[in-house]
Amino acid sequence: MLMGYVRPHRWTLLGGALLSLVTGATGLMLPLVARGLIDDLSHDRAITGALIAMSALVVANAALGALGSYVLQRTAESVVLGARRTLSSYLLRLRISAVDRSEPGDLMARITSDTTLLRQVTTDSLVGLGTGGLTLVATVVMMGVVDPVLLAVTLAVILGAGVVLGVIVPHINRASRRAQDAVGVMGASLERVLGALRTVKASGAEHREEETLHRAAEESWRQSVRAAKWSAAAGNTAGLAMQIAFITVLAVGGARVATGAVDVGTLVAFLLFVFYLMAPIQDVVSAITQYQTGSAALARIQEALSLPAEPRSTASSSPVPGTEPAAVSFQDVRFRYADDLPPVHHGVSFEVPAQGMTAFVGPSGAGKTTVFSLIERFYDPEAGVILLDGLDVAQWDLPRLRSSIGYVEQDAPVLSGSLRENLLLGNPEADDGRLAQVLRTTRLDGLVGRLPEGLETLVGHRGTKLSGGERQRVAIARALLRSPRLLLLDEATSQLDAVNEAALRDTVAEVARTTTVLVVAHRLSTVTMADRIVVMDAGRVRAVGTHQELVAADPLYAELAATQFLASTEPTAPDGDGVPGPVAPDGGLRGAIAAP
Ligand code: ADP
Ligand code: MG
Repeated sequence: MLMGYVRPHRWTLLGGALLSLVTGATGLMLPLVARGLIDDLSHDRAITGALIAMSALVVANAALGALGSYVLQRTAESVVLGARRTLSSYLLRLRISAVDRSEPGDLMARITSDTTLLRQVTTDSLVGLGTGGLTLVATVVMMGVVDPVLLAVTLAVILGAGVVLGVIVPHINRASRRAQDAVGVMGASLERVLGALRTVKASGAEHREEETLHRAAEESWRQSVRAAKWSAAAGNTAGLAMQIAFITVLAVGGARVATGAVDVGTLVAFLLFVFYLMAPIQDVVSAITQYQTGSAALARIQEALSLPAEPRSTASSSPVPGTEPAAVSFQDVRFRYADDLPPVHHGVSFEVPAQGMTAFVGPSGAGKTTVFSLIERFYDPEAGVILLDGLDVAQWDLPRLRSSIGYVEQDAPVLSGSLRENLLLGNPEADDGRLAQVLRTTRLDGLVGRLPEGLETLVGHRGTKLSGGERQRVAIARALLRSPRLLLLDEATSQLDAVNEAALRDTVAEVARTTTVLVVAHRLSTVTMADRIVVMDAGRVRAVGTHQELVAADPLYAELAATQFLASTEPTAPDGDGVPGPVAPDGGLRGAIAAP
C-alpha cells in the first residue's frame, strides 16, 4: 500500500538514505584521523595534512548530513503531496451516493491530517528500517565471524524480544487507527457546527456541541496515549533484550573462556559488538512502531479511495452535444437512495420534447428534486431508463452530459469566493458582454452596482453575505451563463420578491424559446406559463397536461392550484398576461380528493 506512494520517489529516497550512511561513515572516520593527528604531534611531525583531512571531513560531514536530511524530508513531503493529490482528485469524482453516506469533515481529515502521517513513515520508518537493518546485518555478520556460539545466544535473546514485539505492535496499530478515527469524528463535528453556527447559537446548543467536540478530542488523546504506551513498551523491550543479551553473552562467554573454547579478547570483542547492536536495533524497533501509525493512516486513506467514484471521461466514444434544445424522457424509472431506504420513484414516466417549459408540481417529498438528480446522473435508477436526446444517460460521457445542463439546485448553493467566481463557475470562458447581459436579465446589475467592489465582492462561506433571493439569482445567472441545452430550475425563485420573480419569470420564458426548461415550481404564476405540467405524488406521475386540462381532470392538481399556489401568489403579480387566475376551491373536487 505504502509502496504505491513511495515507488515514484524510490531513487531519491535511496539517495537520501545513502547520503545518511555516508554521513555516518565520515563521522566514524574522524576519530581515526584524530588518532593520526595526535600520533603526528607526539612524533613532532607536521600536522598540516591531518588538519586539512580533519577539516575536510568535518565540512563534508556537515554538508552531506544537511543534503541527506534535505533530500529525505523533501522525498517525504513529495510522498505526502502524492497522497493528497490522489485523494483530492478522487474525492471530487466520488459518487453523490457515496458522499451521502460519509461525513465531509471526516473526508477532509483524511486528506489533511492522515496524509501528514505518511511523512514520518517515509523518512523515519522506511529509512530507519533500511539503514538500521543494514547496520544490524553487518554487525551480526561480524559477530558470526568472531564466535558463532555467542552469536546463537545473542540471536536467541533477540528472537525472544521479537516475539514480544509481535504481540505489542498490533496494539500500536489499533490505537493509532482509533486516534485517527477520532480526529475524523472531530473534523465531522467541527464541520457540522461551523456549517450551521447560527442555528447552533440560536438553539442555544453550544454546550452540547462543545461536549461532542471535546469528546472526540479526548478520544484521540486517549488513543494516542495508548499508542505511546505501547511504543514505549516496544522501545524498552528492545533495550531490555539487549541488556539480557549482554548478561547472557557475559555468562556464556565467561564459561567458554573458562573451558578455553575462546580467549578473553574474543569475549571482549563480542561484548563490544553487542553494545554496537543497540543503536540499530532501537532504530529498527522505532521504525516498526512508527510504521504502525503510518499504516493506520494509510488504511484510512485507502478506505476513502475505495468509495465508489464516477467513471472517468470516455469523451471519444460518446456523442458530442450540439447546441439545440435537449429532449428528456423517463421510462418507468424506479429509484431508491440506498438499498435500506424505501423507494422514492415507483415507475416514473414522462416525455419532455425539445424546447419549451415543463413544470413539475406536487406535494413536498413527491420526488421532484430526485427527477433532476437522476437527469444529472448524481444517482443511477434501479430500473427503467432516462433518455436525453434519445440516448440513455448511462451511455453519455458524464462531463458531456452535464455540460449540456444548467442546474439551479433547490437551496441555490453559492460558494465562498467572489461574485465573479460564483457566476463563472459553470463557464469560466464567458465574456464580459455576456456576463453583463445575464446580470441584467437576472436583475443582479443593481446589486453589483451598489457593491463597492462590484463583481469582486466576496460572498462569504456559502454566500452568507447575500440574501436568500440574491443567492437564488446568482445561481440562476450561473446556470444561464452555461448557455445550457437543458435548464433545470428547482424552486429557483422561491425566495424572490414579487417584482424580481415576475422579471425572472419573463427571463425563463424567454430562455424556454431556445432551450428546454424544466422547473419545479411552487407558484401558480410560473406553473400556468408552462407548456405542460407534470403532476407528481408519492413517487408517481399522476397526470400530465396544461393548467386548464389538469384543473378539470386531476383532483390533486386542482387542490394544489386552489390552495398552495394561491397562498404563495402575490397580489402584486402582474395580471392580464394570459395567466388564468387561481381556481377557487371546488367542493366537488375536494370531495374527489378525499376518496383515495
Ligand atoms: P421533492 O423535491 O418532491 O420535495 P425529493 O425528490 O427531494 O422531493 O425527495 C423525495 C424523497 O426522497 C423524500 O422522501 C426524501 O426524504 C427522500 N430523499 C431525498 N434526498 C435524499 C437523499 N439524498 N438520501 C435519502 N433520501 C432522500
Ligand atoms: Mg425538492
